Amino acid sequence: MAQFGYGGEILKTDLTQGDIIKLPTDDDSERFLGGRGIAAKLYWDMVPSKARAFDAENCLIFATGPVTGFPRFASCRCQVCGKSPAMEPECFSYANVGGRWGIYLKYAGYDGLAIQGKSDRPVYLYIDNDTVEMRDASHLWGKTAFDTCDSLRTELGKRVGVMAIGPAAENLVAFATMLTDEGGSVSSGLGSVMGSKRLKAIVTVGDKRPVAAEPERLRHLADHVSKVIKIPSGSFPWVIPGRTTAKACYGCGIGCVRHTYKAEDGRYYKSHCQPQDAYRRPAEKYYGGWNEVVLYAERLFDGYGLETCVMQAMIDWLDSCHEEGILGDEQTGLPLAKIGSAEFIEALTRMVTFREGFGDLLARGTLKAAEAIGGRPKELAQYPIYTRASEARDYDPRMLLHHALILATEPRRSISALHEAPHMLWGWLDWKRTSHSDIRSHPGYRGWGGIDQASRTEVGYLTTDLFREIAQSRWGSAAAADYTTYEGKALASKKIQDRTHAKESIILCDPQWPIMYSDATDDFKGDPTLESQIVSAVTGRELDETGLSRIGERIFNLIRAIQVRHGWEGRKGDRLLDHLHDEPLESVFFDPDCLVPDGDGNITSRKGAVVERDEFEKMKSEYYELRGWDVVSGLLTKAGLNSLELSDIAGDLLKKGLLR
Ligand code: SF4
Repeated sequence: MAQFGYGGEILKTDLTQGDIIKLPTDDDSERFLGGRGIAAKLYWDMVPSKARAFDAENCLIFATGPVTGFPRFASCRCQVCGKSPAMEPECFSYANVGGRWGIYLKYAGYDGLAIQGKSDRPVYLYIDNDTVEMRDASHLWGKTAFDTCDSLRTELGKRVGVMAIGPAAENLVAFATMLTDEGGSVSSGLGSVMGSKRLKAIVTVGDKRPVAAEPERLRHLADHVSKVIKIPSGSFPWVIPGRTTAKACYGCGIGCVRHTYKAEDGRYYKSHCQPQDAYRRPAEKYYGGWNEVVLYAERLFDGYGLETCVMQAMIDWLDSCHEEGILGDEQTGLPLAKIGSAEFIEALTRMVTFREGFGDLLARGTLKAAEAIGGRPKELAQYPIYTRASEARDYDPRMLLHHALILATEPRRSISALHEAPHMLWGWLDWKRTSHSDIRSHPGYRGWGGIDQASRTEVGYLTTDLFREIAQSRWGSAAAADYTTYEGKALASKKIQDRTHAKESIILCDPQWPIMYSDATDDFKGDPTLESQIVSAVTGRELDETGLSRIGERIFNLIRAIQVRHGWEGRKGDRLLDHLHDEPLESVFFDPDCLVPDGDGNITSRKGAVVERDEFEKMKSEYYELRGWDVVSGLLTKAGLNSLELSDIAGDLLKKGLLR
């Protein structure tokens, strides 16, 4: 009998040998919960430190959490992990995807799926309860991810979940995605890891529903959650009146501002947040306003399997190189004067996906391409990018100092950790907007949030005092509510990361969790205990907020151990791209004026700010102390691992000289 909340087994398969093994989940579920936690533990146990992203030894791991499959909590998520080729040097990374696929994996009885080896021909994996088969996929190879999903649903029936890769992943583009449902995509280059294994798709279906330990308590919690969580109102750029419709992911039960639309081919595609931003600004510039090509570009990227966040920055970089006259059509084979047009985006998608000419260079990632070209193109690459995985700059640490250490210590733009500080800021600005005149009278004020101000309906209630109280309880100090100083940011980063790693292991969806504040709670402070209560009601193992955060901390430290074992250089490796230290901030996508609260609760601008190097190094030292790491080297310590019940991983680190 499976534990409450769990499918009960982890499926391991080796595509070289064709072996399929099933292991009990309960060995690791108490210490690592599920999702990112269980995936990281499997990776630690299975992948040798010298394995490269496209080696057979690399393991592609899919893991659901204990709450996956229970509706009404936005918990229809699945975590995907493995060594990613998207960063230099390559390192362990993670992604999160919604939709039915992960739920169906659990319905088949599995909490995780770990895939090693390489097939000698294209295959897809078929998982239907106890039936696990490798099937021929030659007829699917070369198809887009959407066409692959449709073909398999035609063959196998609409009741299946399909996760598929497109041609970019087959061609090992460093930032290739995999895709499910109406465009739920797995980022961080993990699609190309799947391509390297010649695994075109994974089909899941099953009829084993997980059981909660306390169903009545869970129902009460769901009722409470539906009152406390609110879907933001306003006019968002990806909401196109008459064209898109609000549609939650399968099994979410809460919803957010995610939208879908029907294209000319009769199929439904997503229109959501950053992916829709990937080509919006160039298209608006080219056509002089919104154009359908914005949606076309998004589905081209999803279908061929190119990560939108990387493509957005790449297009911005090509545009600035073209504007300065240092890259031209002849050199690149791209119609650069037509950036923003359908013709350009088709050409770019084709060249990168199939690695044609200049596209082969771009397929390695923008930073690597710029590095190879050198000179001014290399300098220009830094502006649209802010991670070593060539991802587009959004929640800039020069404005949000809470993010400096998060970006420096994680392998990619960890979006679910990067939303807390801006969400609090937006709530406070709402209060300023509706209760005070000073935001409107601020000399630089032109609106914020990328949202049409006239359409906003929220009446702000997150006062400065409330902001400080929440910062004290969630981030460890009231000083963290002052966005102009480094004080309290090391502790805030640690707390955000620990909470995020727990959230990605439960798994709960980022736009709705954590609930940092809510006017549906008496004290307006949201409810920080909800996540742990939900886990407790599902699993029957009582956990409180502190216990849950401790699990997140354990998982974060396990991932640190994986990274240093694979060559992450400790303190030296925890770094930001140089321009974040050297180039004054000009603007951010959600606020051209970079407005934040200062220590007195006044509005001030972060325009012109940098992350000062000496302050950053001081923050790092403080952060290492808080984490119980060695301050000089940034390595884990034996005492720290023992206190987190991770002594079983100490031996290997010690042998390699990577433990203090
Ligand atoms: S909150 Fe939004 S993105 Fe998350 S699962 Fe629900 S609909 Fe999908």
